[in-house]
Amino acid sequence: MAVCARLCGVGPSRGCRRRGAQREQRREGPADSEPDTDAEEERIEGARLGQGEAPASAPAARAPLSLLELPPELLVQIFGSLPGTDLPSLARVCSTFRRILRTDTIWRRRCREEYGVCENLRKLEITGVSCRDVYAKRINPRVKSGRFMKILPDYEHMEYRDVYTCLLHRYRHILGLWQPDIGPYGGLLNVVVDGLFIIGWMYLPPHDPHVDDPMRFKPLFRIHLMERKSATVECMYGHKGPHNGHIQIVKKDEFSTKCNQTDHHRMSGGRQEEFRTWLREEWGRTLEDIFHEHMQELILMKFIYTSQYDNCLTYRRIYLPPSSPADLLNPGLFKGTYGSHGLEIVMLSFHGKKAKGTKITGDPNIPAGQQTVEIDLAHPIQLPDIENLRNFNELSRIVLEVQEQVRREQQQQEEEEGQDEEEGRSRQGDSQQAEPPAQRDDAGAEGTEAAGAAAAQESAPNSQPFVLPVGVISRNEDYPRTCRMCFYGTGLIAGHGFTSPERTPGIFILFDDDRFGFIWLELKSFSLYSRIKVSFQNAEAPSREAFDEMLKNIQSMTT
Ligand SMILES: [Zn+2]
Repeated sequence: MAVCARLCGVGPSRGCRRRGAQREQRREGPADSEPDTDAEEERIEGARLGQGEAPASAPAARAPLSLLELPPELLVQIFGSLPGTDLPSLARVCSTFRRILRTDTIWRRRCREEYGVCENLRKLEITGVSCRDVYAKRINPRVKSGRFMKILPDYEHMEYRDVYTCLLHRYRHILGLWQPDIGPYGGLLNVVVDGLFIIGWMYLPPHDPHVDDPMRFKPLFRIHLMERKSATVECMYGHKGPHNGHIQIVKKDEFSTKCNQTDHHRMSGGRQEEFRTWLREEWGRTLEDIFHEHMQELILMKFIYTSQYDNCLTYRRIYLPPSSPADLLNPGLFKGTYGSHGLEIVMLSFHGKKAKGTKITGDPNIPAGQQTVEIDLAHPIQLPDIENLRNFNELSRIVLEVQEQVRREQQQQEEEEGQDEEEGRSRQGDSQQAEPPAQRDDAGAEGTEAAGAAAAQESAPNSQPFVLPVGVISRNEDYPRTCRMCFYGTGLIAGHGFTSPERTPGIFILFDDDRFGFIWLELKSFSLYSRIKVSFQNAEAPSREAFDEMLKNIQSMTT
């Protein structure tokens, strides 16, 4: 019996085996065919089994023979240490187990250990309204207290078992990082357990061009138990507080949200007021402040495009990039300047001798999901001294030289691969060939080059002066004036609507552990990137392959 199997870990093995043998004997008996044995029955049974045993010479030394003989508080401890998903089947074993599993401290522990819930239901109950009010304010500070009163859950009858089963376990698949499908614009949504809520926070870059400022965030939805055994989804979009919403988990790694009361998103001042409010939030200024005509157009377009969704969005899961000690810097999420498009979110990841910057948010030129920059770690660039660095033509000459070298190397590699392929074909039938030589060469090259980059990093002076060449435009004048290393790279540029995309040459500049830059040679412009210092939960990729697959998927969405 399952109970007896578990018992081996608790009582002395001798006793356990003995009882196991006894049970084996009466396997055919009617009592065992009914697993839902009552505690009373078990006690009687235990006594009967005892009769057959050797005379108890030292009854004090006798260890408990069954889980059911343990004191209930110990069972609460044991059951509380099991995964919550195992508890329903444990409850089916017998009525005693079922009764013990009604103990809310077991479920409270599961909520805490599996989902990090630290809010105390009982405490909320005691402190009452004010505490709930604080909570509501924390979620939407604009809404005056009182408005939330009638829509907050009745915690008095709330149990952790319901929180676990109807909220946390039910919606566990939406925890983590997501990218909404909003045409070219994308976005970053972080779904977390926050107190007794599950909240979807949309992360927004700081106001342009303050790339070092922290990220901003606003809630798009929340889920909580308004009544026992039934979780309520609320839309948090707009400025009128939470209202009726809906979440559908479409398939693994995809879900969608729907607002059932979009009139809550409308403002009394009409579209004008909605636009002004959006502009203040998104850009931190008024349209009159933005003199640049093209920028005004881009901003208007984004408002018209994104506001039509009314928080009815489909999300796809994204993972944070896996890291390795050999990486040039920690991979992760960065905020970067993108000229008139403002600040965008870019994910930096390492792939052997290449590093990739993938857009998590995008714009009508280069949409979200596309690879904005690619860094060639096998080709470091030695910047000219500070005087010559101001000369754009000199820098351009250096970069174009490397570009030519890279082109030649690629050509050579392709030729070699072609030869290898031919050789491979002529050798077909020679089944003992362990692996294709081309593949082995590649792996070797990758190893040496990575080591080369690491060696260059060690030998290079810790910092060298840096200044942007004259004529290169930067959104941000206070970029770092020293850098550690530079590499050749390419940046993706395209016309409006992602027409005729093209990878153009540029320079990747590593400033420090949290900042890097990219000079777009053809655009004569500079992007500055600064790390997003938020520790996101449930965002780790299950494997390197899963991460690569995710990158490919989000890229194919907008291609
Ligand atoms: Zn809504």
